[in-house]
Amino acid sequence: MNKVNSTNTLLLIFVLAITTNIQAQEKNTARTHKIADNVYTFTTDGEYISMFVVTDEGVMVFESVNSAHAKALIVEVKIITNKPIKYAFHSHNHWDHASGGQLYLDEGATTIAHVEAYEWMVANTGQDMAIPKEVWAGNRKDITLDDVTVELHYLGMNHGMGMTVFLLPKYNLAYIADIVTPNRLPFAIVPDFNIDGWMNSLEEVLKMDFDKAVFSHNEYENPLLGGNKKDVELQLQFIKDLRAGFFAELQKGTNPFMIPKVLKLPKYEHWVGYDDWLEMNIWRILSDAFLGPYPWRPSPAYETEP
Ligand SMILES: [Zn+2]
Repeated sequence: MNKVNSTNTLLLIFVLAITTNIQAQEKNTARTHKIADNVYTFTTDGEYISMFVVTDEGVMVFESVNSAHAKALIVEVKIITNKPIKYAFHSHNHWDHASGGQLYLDEGATTIAHVEAYEWMVANTGQDMAIPKEVWAGNRKDITLDDVTVELHYLGMNHGMGMTVFLLPKYNLAYIADIVTPNRLPFAIVPDFNIDGWMNSLEEVLKMDFDKAVFSHNEYENPLLGGNKKDVELQLQFIKDLRAGFFAELQKGTNPFMIPKVLKLPKYEHWVGYDDWLEMNIWRILSDAFLGPYPWRPSPAYETEP
């Protein structure tokens, strides 16, 4: 086993441990939900939610996740339609979201990612990851299949690389990965989030035109039902409250290293992860307050394709 593989395996064990910890038993079955005419949400485990759209010219899939997930999704697509899968969209670079692309390439689909995500995937290819067939650059691209247009929006630094928010105006629908997770605290130490960028992106998402959103992670009772702009607002408000809480304690003269222990945000007690992750979320705010924002990168490099 090479170094990348063993790191990947460790990550998988880590993710599985967390997943097992926060998952309700009844969520552990592959299932599909029709969220709009010809639009379906899909999960194998309740933890990762994909979406696919069926048109007369073919199918478009959002988020490959991994090979097992992709394989099960392709089975579902073939039960619903005999149209070929034409596109599989990657939301961002992370191994736990952008793996499994090979199954879509094998179906003859075009896998596509933003150039930032693409370059990262080339440099850090996970063991279950296939390099996207197509790459796009800049802040916006539209892809149309039959009568369905998908708007790809890159909003700058927020989470991971090349994070893309997808809008489907025909359905007043958005697909949003990782930057909004309804009913749950941000994951653990809030890894790979530029917090200012994240907040700016959420403000941008709130200005977009959609009624319904499908989220890659969603801790409501049935994650396949998605949510709406209220969930984007709540996500933004949580970050504001977390930061305000930290700086209020600092102002009071609390030893900064005690703040993760003493700060409570009872408004969010009912959110999944409150007991396990609030302290880690606060450590992240503390380290940003000391170090400055990270990760950070200059933007102009990504205005054109490589
Ligand atoms: Zn991610």
